[in-house]
Amino acid sequence: MSISEFDLIRRFFTRATPGALLGVGDDAALLQVSEGNVLAVSSDMLVSGTHFLSGADPFLLGHKTLAVNLSDMAAMGAAPRWAVLAIALPEADEAWLAQFSAGFFALAQQHGVELVGGDTTRGPLNLCVTIFGEVPAQQALRRSGAQAGDEIWVSGCLGDAALALAHLQGRIALSAAEFAACAPALRQPQPRVALGLALRGIASSAIDISDGLLADLGHILEASQLGARLYFPALPASPALHGHLSSPLARQCILSGGDDYELCFTAPVARHAELSKIAARLDLPLTRIGEIVAGQGCIVHDAAGNPLDVETRGYDHFR
Ligand code: ADP
Ligand code: MG
Repeated sequence: MSISEFDLIRRFFTRATPGALLGVGDDAALLQVSEGNVLAVSSDMLVSGTHFLSGADPFLLGHKTLAVNLSDMAAMGAAPRWAVLAIALPEADEAWLAQFSAGFFALAQQHGVELVGGDTTRGPLNLCVTIFGEVPAQQALRRSGAQAGDEIWVSGCLGDAALALAHLQGRIALSAAEFAACAPALRQPQPRVALGLALRGIASSAIDISDGLLADLGHILEASQLGARLYFPALPASPALHGHLSSPLARQCILSGGDDYELCFTAPVARHAELSKIAARLDLPLTRIGEIVAGQGCIVHDAAGNPLDVETRGYDHFR
């Protein structure tokens, strides 16, 4: 006999939630925000066929379902606290659910996030998390805060996830070692939560890179009503890309590749040294890639200082 909806919730999605007044099991969870903080709330949905293939590894899918939401908390400078999970399943496959929830809770525990509710229905596989974090209102990292003269920074390296995907799709042939180097970014992205917290009071704006550097930086520019100058040679290309830098695909992975979940942020020049210290403390490279300028749009310069002809539009579900 197959498992009931309530047994499913109890077995796979109910854990202790000491940080909530009330967690899974009632009509709603009850949450108390800490003194001096406001709630930062965000949802991200993963749809089978669009964000992953139906045969995707369930443990990694559980990780990624939460990771993309944690990344939004990081980009806001918020400390993630609670999540709710709305899930549609074609069937109650217990082995699949065990792996999915193990991947989800492993990452949740790493970041001190508690699953406090959700919804479970039958339907084409669809995974939607809403995450709740805390941040002092004045320290939230908004997209609109960039100032002319600010430096533009990016964490980690760019293009890994897009490169791994291109390899899987047969658009580029990587060596086994190259694929091994870039695949974790696609399969198991690490949200930059600690960096987001460290950037409170330092960064003037921030965004996480889910649709590609140029598209996501473009959102900062639009919200801040400013422009940007980037230096292509300064961009921290994935080491797996170093052997392919002459290919147009490599350039595309770096500038427009999605799914990196690194942070792109701006900060006054006077904060440069502090940012170098944060990079060392978090053992996470932070690279200055350009600067905010008056005007609009983003110009990417090559090594000779000439503007590159680049596509600035990122992935768009409806275009
Ligand atoms: P309701 O009928 O009031 O919507 P449900 O029967 O859908 O309640 O859910 C019962 C309890 O289980 C609620 O507390 C709900 O938040 C929780 N819940 C349902 N699905 C999930 C899930 N996938 N993950 C975590 N909690 C869940
Ligand atoms: Mg319900």
